[in-house]
Amino acid sequence: MLNPLSTVQPPPPSAPSPVASAPPDCSLIDYPGRMAAMLFTAGCNFRCPFCHNALALAGPVRPGIPWKALDDALRRFRGNWVSAAVITGGEPTLHPGLPDLVRFLKARGFSVKLDTNGSRPKVLRDLLPSLDYVAMDIKCALADYPRLVGCPDPAPVAESVRLLVSSPADYEFRTTVLTSWHTPDTWPALADLLSGARRYILPPFLPRPEVLSPDLRDAPETPHAFLLKMQAALAPRLPVTLRAAF
Ligand code: SF4
Repeated sequence: MLNPLSTVQPPPPSAPSPVASAPPDCSLIDYPGRMAAMLFTAGCNFRCPFCHNALALAGPVRPGIPWKALDDALRRFRGNWVSAAVITGGEPTLHPGLPDLVRFLKARGFSVKLDTNGSRPKVLRDLLPSLDYVAMDIKCALADYPRLVGCPDPAPVAESVRLLVSSPADYEFRTTVLTSWHTPDTWPALADLLSGARRYILPPFLPRPEVLSPDLRDAPETPHAFLLKMQAALAPRLPVTLRAAF
């Protein structure tokens, strides 16, 4: 199969990349077992009430920093032994320049992880052979996507799940657990959706002053006992891991 990245021409150095922000400090928690450069894209097609990423909610997709500036930032990371990169958002798959970005990173020797909400399965399918790790958010039971995250048609999310489950790619699904969203009656639907998944991560919801919904800014952190109960209920059908939230 033709690698889709091989058909992408090198971007001009002065052109904007899809990266809106590349903080100078690496992350120790976003790429499994590796220090990683964090590359944020702007804009998202969802409106999750617990979203705390101002870039994601900033409005329409906008041009990012020039490729030359990104190259300089990546050289600094490599000089500090950072050889993994996480493309996150926002929703990176909204950006037409995402294949360029993955190719740019791979050409510089980075292992690449993509964070996605799974709403663009075609983009994911084309990029999957070039990615080293994919983390896909499962917001809630599929039937609740229109009401809870403003996604009117969750069918593409289900398609992305099937794509990952049936691929040899290294991936994880993850759900930020809220007691009011992920009530026990929704757990069977989550297990059905993720049937066959090799890794499912459950971090708790943590209140923050900057989250989108004012109702959630003072909401309680998800109790550990609730996470344990959800893990135990899903364990016969899914390999569930609890993860601390940061
Ligand atoms: S999908 Fe992610 S970036 Fe988009 S609104 Fe939801 S939490 Fe924020």
